Amino acid sequence: MDAGFSRHAAALLSDIEANGLLKTEREMSGPQGGRITVRGREMINLCANNYLGLANHPVVRRAAAEALETHGFGMASVRFICGTQDLHRELERAIARYLGKDDAILFAACFDANGAVFETLLGPEDAVISDALNHASIIDGIRLSKARRFRYATGDMDELETRLREADAEGCRFKMIVTDGVFSMDGHVARLAEICSLAERHGALVAVDDCHATGHLGEKGRGTPALTGTGQRVDIVTGTLGKTLGGAMGGFIAASQPIVDVLRQRARPYLFSNSLAPPVAAGSLAAIALAEAGDDLRRTLMRNTQRFRAGLAAAGFSLLPGETPIIPVMLGEAVTAQRMARALDARGVYVAGFFYPVVPHGKARIRTQMSAALTEADIDAAITAFVEAGRDEGVI
Ligand SMILES: *Cc1c(COP(=O)(O)O)cnc(C)c1O
Repeated sequence: MDAGFSRHAAALLSDIEANGLLKTEREMSGPQGGRITVRGREMINLCANNYLGLANHPVVRRAAAEALETHGFGMASVRFICGTQDLHRELERAIARYLGKDDAILFAACFDANGAVFETLLGPEDAVISDALNHASIIDGIRLSKARRFRYATGDMDELETRLREADAEGCRFKMIVTDGVFSMDGHVARLAEICSLAERHGALVAVDDCHATGHLGEKGRGTPALTGTGQRVDIVTGTLGKTLGGAMGGFIAASQPIVDVLRQRARPYLFSNSLAPPVAAGSLAAIALAEAGDDLRRTLMRNTQRFRAGLAAAGFSLLPGETPIIPVMLGEAVTAQRMARALDARGVYVAGFFYPVVPHGKARIRTQMSAALTEADIDAAITAFVEAGRDEGVI
């Protein structure tokens, strides 16, 4: 190895560290949950995507353990060679039925689903029109496609319409609007009703990445199309099995039959990457059933969300408004967010500070996420810790 490159990498790292942007990983020694064990210490966890608390649910664990015995550990094949079990097709059908689509296709992650959807479905004569705040995997997926690229400021419907007109003026064949269902850094919901109306007026397809919604938002947890009453007006839903739906891993695209069939023939992350492990497929199937029947879990999640939001607001913290279980506590500079995160860690509350480049300069925050796995006592203890840490750090 060239020593010059090692020096280059070391210099990059010192730069990152000098700018206060170094990310470190804290090791947990037990399962994911409302309370986790970090270096022997039990902490209240406010930053997992474990919205319904299914990541360590006994029914999900049992389904995965049974599949391990009946279907084995791994597939050692892509789907079309010898990597499709009954479990994979059952899971695809369950996702499709849950989201009200004809069919669904599995990927190793939603990152791969978003890497597949644009490149496979759109050509150089087409257009993709993307919200500026969309997830990194959508941005990368768009980079992989040859479609013409248009971008609109987040939630700006006037600009979206302008971009649709521009795409028409350039003679684009098909147009696809793509948006996160819930924007994960801010926790707000996309304006899907308006987006669908614009799409219908201009003859565009609508694709929604519903990673932060499927399972816990909308009627029966069917996500932002259900929440916003847009249902079937959304053509394509991409999603993850790595958040609410068990939290293991895996992604999917749910859509009409011809769209899914084309993806199965042509999507590179599907054709050239291994099948989901059988225990993951079986555990995810169990998680979908729990999510669909989980009105009680969704009520607990929303109760926790309201309780935590009200407690922090009453204490004088600056919160972004919203109705999702993502509650960003705005702190301004990166150093303030880091100091708050440390002060909360010392008080047994596990959070993560977010700062540039994940969010804009001066908009550093601690993004808290609620879970049905948290108890009222956990929520109240977390509020107390925020108030004490906030006073110590001069934030409130
Ligand atoms: C988490 C997330 C992804 C990535 O999902 P994985 O299955 O973990 O790859 C993609 N898009 C959005 C909006 C996400 O929040």
